[in-house]
Amino acid sequence: MRDYSRSRHGYLCQTNEGISMTIAIFGATGQLGSLTIDSLLTRGVAAGDILALGRNQDRLARLGERGVRTTAIDLDDASTLDGVLGGVERVLLISASEPGKRMPQHEVAINVAAAAGVGHLVYTSALQAPTTTLPLAAEHKATEELIAASGIPATYLRNGWYTENHRSDFDTAREHGVISNSVGAGRIASAPRGDYAEAAAVVLTTPGHEGKGYELSGDAAWDFAEFAATAERVLGTPVRYEPLSSEQEREQLRGFGLDDATVGFVVGLNASIAEGTLSLTNGDLASLIGRPTVPLEETLRSWV
Ligand code: NDP
Repeated sequence: MRDYSRSRHGYLCQTNEGISMTIAIFGATGQLGSLTIDSLLTRGVAAGDILALGRNQDRLARLGERGVRTTAIDLDDASTLDGVLGGVERVLLISASEPGKRMPQHEVAINVAAAAGVGHLVYTSALQAPTTTLPLAAEHKATEELIAASGIPATYLRNGWYTENHRSDFDTAREHGVISNSVGAGRIASAPRGDYAEAAAVVLTTPGHEGKGYELSGDAAWDFAEFAATAERVLGTPVRYEPLSSEQEREQLRGFGLDDATVGFVVGLNASIAEGTLSLTNGDLASLIGRPTVPLEETLRSWV
């Protein structure tokens, strides 16, 4: 069998004949999944040792052209997963993308992984999932509990915020010179998807991660006044931050034509961020990837 062992942050693969060391990825057709596959390939994993799982046929075909094995599956239809993990040693379950629908979808994937006897299940969870009050995190906590109950040796990658979530704030800054929301002085330790993807690739290709939960976040936490100042530097035009109360934000979002459910979700999320639910900086992400996380300013510059 193949032994993936670590030379600090390097990747070493030794092969004995006969036993495959396939890494299967649920969510391989998405943005994080595709970056994770890039990182696995960069780390020396053979394309044929990666099994990409997802619904989008075009993206599966593009991965297939790179030599990656692909199978179309739909987590809403358990029958599409029959036998799909046969011979698979490690699984990355990237959380599915529709909040509120994820539990049955994740359960299907976990059951299939357990039935196939996979040796290691890595799940992309949410920052501090077991204890956080962040809306969205309840499904991640419940998924971690399902995985624990399954008995599969597991690792939880409790991913913090993607810097890319704030692309629209940057575009607003460029267009209007002002960013307004109710996050106030709440700080966000974001990192770009590529950093989280690299961490997933490290965990999938180096030993010693079973039974662990990593709280992954950017090295530096910023608030929106700092985001505005960074955007101003990058754009070379004035940008200011205007803090709103929750009620002012509710009115603003209604004025944009958003429905009540969306307005409630955004205002609740921002209240949670204002309390610091995305502010943790513990260095776990930088430590896993063996370099500092990509700073906010660098990501903003890549959007100019
Ligand atoms: P994407 O939306 O780019 O990718 C989502 C992936 O989930 C796709 O591969 C999609 O497959 C797959 N998927 C969704 N539903 C199903 C289904 N029923 N059956 C099979 N596959 C399914 O998300 P990202 O890559 O950007 O992020 C990954 C995950 O991280 C998200 O799904 C979400 O849970 C979470 N997230 C985290 C954020 C953060 O800041 N930490 C922000 C936003 C999301 P296909 O495209 O083939 O349909």
